[in-house]
Amino acid sequence: MVKVKAQIAEIEQYTPGKTVEDTARAYGLAQARILKLASNENPIGPSKAAIRAILKAAGSVNIYPAADATNLRSAIRSHLGIGFDEENIVCGNGSDGVLEALVHLFIEEGDEALIPIPTFSFYELVLKMHGGNPVFIERDRNFGFTADDLLEKATDRTKIVFIASPNNPTGNSIDEETLREIVENMDALIVVDEAYIEFSSKPSFNELVLEYDNLAVTHTFSKAYGLAGMRVGYGVIPRWLFGYYMRATPPFAVNSLAEMAAIAALEDHRHLDDTVKMIEDGIKYFEESVPFKVFPSDANFVLVDVSPFKSTEVTEALMKQGIIVRDCSGFKGMGDSFIRITVGRAEDNRRVVEALNGYIP
Ligand SMILES: *Cc1c(COP(=O)(O)O)cnc(C)c1O
Repeated sequence: MVKVKAQIAEIEQYTPGKTVEDTARAYGLAQARILKLASNENPIGPSKAAIRAILKAAGSVNIYPAADATNLRSAIRSHLGIGFDEENIVCGNGSDGVLEALVHLFIEEGDEALIPIPTFSFYELVLKMHGGNPVFIERDRNFGFTADDLLEKATDRTKIVFIASPNNPTGNSIDEETLREIVENMDALIVVDEAYIEFSSKPSFNELVLEYDNLAVTHTFSKAYGLAGMRVGYGVIPRWLFGYYMRATPPFAVNSLAEMAAIAALEDHRHLDDTVKMIEDGIKYFEESVPFKVFPSDANFVLVDVSPFKSTEVTEALMKQGIIVRDCSGFKGMGDSFIRITVGRAEDNRRVVEALNGYIP
């Protein structure tokens, strides 16, 4: 019988956060009682303007969208400001789609990518899908790393470096000096994943893309913009890469509903500001009230060290009360005492803190 490629058969399947439906069934709880704070989604929902745009676009879904998301790229260009042009912007089916295209462009069988861990597991998965080998760099106790930590692992097969900043699940960011040192000293594409940048008080690294020919920055509409279900993201890339990117990816990566929703979301500053403000307040509240060590966060979640307890038992205890958080023991290099809690609305956050207090004997 015909066989799939061995490199695919060996990949572990991506495990998403637990769904509301699964949890309700497993613990005999009403779905309405369940609070999902495990996937860093926007707890206040999408922008109303985005919902209207989706409804309006629905009547024309018999027509193909623009092959290269022209209107969305133009809106993103205005959003980024002067210096960028439309050939600096590519859109994809989620930022995962953009990441996959970048891997497809640079990774040949046996090539390597550097990945500081713990981090988002998709980098390793997508790399392996394309025959690449991950080289992991262990972050220090505060989840930082130096340029030298990476540079000393580079070989002539290193084609990509994946740096999430702010990082998932740790919430910290890379500083500009370290990033520049990496970009300037490596003959590889450095990909900075800014899925959580809207929540950060530090600026985006988008502008650096205009200075270097080996830096790309990815963004998503799934987190602050509240459009995870629409699957749309974008990359800010050096201009020379644009033509190759277009040749290496199937057309119509962004569907017409997603394109219109993203444009409307970008223009709804009020929804973004309300979201960011709510997250700031929630992070302060968690830092003051969670009865365990809470790591500083530039994102919309907090990493909590529940020592001396195990993350698996704490996650399970919260789940019984209808609260879903992320058990981080599945993240490579993370250890077994960390949970990640997405910041919710004030009343959601209070429920989490009460449940954690109740856990301590
Ligand atoms: C959630 C997340 C993404 C978003 O992926 P999409 O495909 O755009 O939904 C990307 N990177 C990181 C680190 C994330 O946590």
